[in-house]
Amino acid sequence: MATFLFDEIIFGPVKSRRLGVSLGINLLPVNRKFCNFDCIYCECGWSADIEKVKSQLPTRGEVFTALDNKLSAMKEKGEKPDVITYAGNGEPTLHPEFHGIIDDSIVLRDKYFPAARIAVLSNATTINRPDVKSALLKVDMNILKLDSAFESTVKVHNQPNKHLDVRELINNLAGFGGNLIIQTLFLRGKYKENLVDNTTEEELSAWLKALEKIKPAEVMIYTISRDTPVGAELSKVSAGELAKIAARVEKLGIKTQVSS
Ligand code: SF4
Repeated sequence: MATFLFDEIIFGPVKSRRLGVSLGINLLPVNRKFCNFDCIYCECGWSADIEKVKSQLPTRGEVFTALDNKLSAMKEKGEKPDVITYAGNGEPTLHPEFHGIIDDSIVLRDKYFPAARIAVLSNATTINRPDVKSALLKVDMNILKLDSAFESTVKVHNQPNKHLDVRELINNLAGFGGNLIIQTLFLRGKYKENLVDNTTEEELSAWLKALEKIKPAEVMIYTISRDTPVGAELSKVSAGELAKIAARVEKLGIKTQVSS
């Protein structure tokens, strides 16, 4: 199926279904995905060997210049972003200068659009690193992935490139003291003979228990919306079902945002 890659450091602004008018920043290579997950639903396609593509990351200086130029041009045209979003072709926190780049973007945001929020979409695998955690705690929206509380599901759904201890991940997410947003993608289907479904009662009960522990400020609940590398074998979860899941989260006193 046709997946797509961002071909520049700065993209948009685009109207994001979850974030509003979003100016995107891609800290990853412009021609391939760079991620330590290989989610079966990833809109960027399958991951390449991350060791081989490290050299193609933009430098901190290049990101600064690209963002400075773009924000300055938007200011001149009277265009205003709601949010400056770190996303793009993979996992932004894998960039070795992620912390410094976040500091730069706060300076530039304050200079051009002080009301805009800064968001990072991350798979949360690097939050055990103090530099990544402290950078994430500086931004307005650190949006961290938790698709399941079960290691066996994460293994199929997200395909981490090395063993991921989900219990430790949940503890690390709880270590943000509520200053985080959890993002969870729900889907059903089949992949390499494995049935995939993170909406079963067993899955939801364990995931809700994890949320009770993490106490996030918000949970973003969504499903696939574009082509995936797996194609027709994966299917969306209906808007009605997502709303029912959200109602269970709200019962815990946690705000939700649902995109179907
Ligand atoms: S974490 Fe994000 S970028 Fe990485 S494989 Fe999953 S969906 Fe794609």
